Amino acid sequence: MSREEDIKLIKKNGFKNFKPDRHSFIDENGQGWLQCKFCCEYQKVDNVGGAITCGDCVVKIDLIKFPKTAMTKQKVSTGRPPGWHFMNEYVDKDGNVFHKGKEQPDLKGTLEPTKVKPRKKKKKLTPDQKLQRDLKRWNKRKKLRRKK
Ligand SMILES: [Zn+2]
Repeated sequence: MSREEDIKLIKKNGFKNFKPDRHSFIDENGQGWLQCKFCCEYQKVDNVGGAITCGDCVVKIDLIKFPKTAMTKQKVSTGRPPGWHFMNEYVDKDGNVFHKGKEQPDLKGTLEPTKVKPRKKKKKLTPDQKLQRDLKRWNKRKKLRRKK
């Protein structure tokens, strides 16, 4: 499903339609996996007991709740990271301070701008590369099993 369709669905049904009742599992390497409560994509987690929202859905929610900023964000980069509205404290490069997306004019210029880590871009793999990647993973697992 495209992001636009997801957004339409969330707008139509509301967030309550998306229940944090998702599956989780711990793989053979001890890594916990939990489905995002919105899109059901599996994400790596430390604690499988909770509920998570994946980075992609954080952006979607951002687009719904703040369509204006999201729109301008798409056209002109503000330099703000996706999901900055949800940060307890975010300071932009001009020294504007935001607490969970709310501007705090009193604090302007009193804090260092929040450093934003650039998001890793996912490389698009060709079907051939995907096959090779899966093969590599599979071989790795096989080796691990042998060690045990
Ligand atoms: Zn998601």
